[in-house]
Amino acid sequence: MKTIRLKAGKERSLLRRHPWVFDGAIERGRADAGETVRVESAEGRFLAWGAYAPSSRIRVRIWSFDEAERIDAAFFERRLRAAVALRERLAIDSDGVRLVHGESDGLPGLVVDRYGQTLVAQFGSSGAERHKATIADALLRVTGLRRLYERSDASVRALEGLPPATGWLRGDGPTECTIHENGWRLSLDVAEGHKTGYYLDQRDSRRACAELTRRFGLGEVLNCYSYTGGFTVAALAGGARHVTSIDSSGPALQRAQRNVALNGFDAARCTFWDADVNASLRALLAEGRRFDAIVLDPPKLAPSAAHVERAARAYKDVNRLGFKLLQPGGVLFTYSCSGAVGVELFQKIVASAAHEAGVDAVILARHGGAPDHPTGLAFPEGEYLKGLVLWRRA
Ligand code: SAH
Repeated sequence: MKTIRLKAGKERSLLRRHPWVFDGAIERGRADAGETVRVESAEGRFLAWGAYAPSSRIRVRIWSFDEAERIDAAFFERRLRAAVALRERLAIDSDGVRLVHGESDGLPGLVVDRYGQTLVAQFGSSGAERHKATIADALLRVTGLRRLYERSDASVRALEGLPPATGWLRGDGPTECTIHENGWRLSLDVAEGHKTGYYLDQRDSRRACAELTRRFGLGEVLNCYSYTGGFTVAALAGGARHVTSIDSSGPALQRAQRNVALNGFDAARCTFWDADVNASLRALLAEGRRFDAIVLDPPKLAPSAAHVERAARAYKDVNRLGFKLLQPGGVLFTYSCSGAVGVELFQKIVASAAHEAGVDAVILARHGGAPDHPTGLAFPEGEYLKGLVLWRRA
């Protein structure tokens, strides 16, 4: 077993169970990609077992803080069982569920989503990559499922020096799946879709959108960055008269159309725009259009702390346009999935957007990732999705 010795004082974050060791904290020691290493303090005291990543700034990701634990097949099966058992207790109203959420489930770099009878995994770290076969076998045992598709094509792989990898790892068959979320049917493709196929983290926000659409009687709805129409279906289910969905991905919009049909809604209640949201909002304003509800769920605009300032301006712009298009008495559902933009900053950005639009609004609810995307208390980096539901005073 190879040992990684930290510099003096660099053990503090590990003692608080933060699961990363950065390259700059290491005094000496190295290992192969994904190899299990013993991490110890400058005094030689055991701190943790982790996976070494030779070319990543996050040089070691921690598997366990327990010296007696061995990082073997039984370890992975225990962690996977615990993660799956948690989801069972959460009583999620969907068969599309995130079963493993990386560091926050004690499995750094590993993401596993279940879509009906199909599992999709992302191996985003050298450690997860090294134990891929063990994890794949354990996943089938723990879930009783037979099909596992790999979507290791996220950009984080490059930071770990890993090439992209996609395809069936276990079992095979069609990559298209239909899940049942909040009582709706939603189709997706695990090979072609964003992330592992769908944005499971927004499940509770979509449900809230359906409920508020119904309770507030919101008729004319604008769904910006609609992807495959999750919020579109939600608004229609909530009784919206008409929903305009905007996204710059043609294939996503085609699937959104299919998802509307799949739920038996009349296509005449929908308009789909394959366009840039910012330009579309300006065009709608110029036409004098107004909406009773608007959803703004942009992609990650701040990939890192260095991008926060530029992202803040982009969030403010789109929210200002959103407020201007919102009818008095209407509801804005606005989100950010940039980890680098914290909850407080996001609220400030949205508040300035409202101010610039000359709109008086109150917060009806705060949204975050659905509970199958838990955040480790010692791992604030895991927190990324935040949202505000705002009511424009009538
Ligand atoms: N709300 C969706 C998820 C949105 S993900 C859901 O609940 O499933 C963000 C979406 O923004 C992606 O589908 C992407 O294609 C789209 N997108 C990114 N940049 C865009 C732009 N400038 N204009 C329009 N859509 C954009």
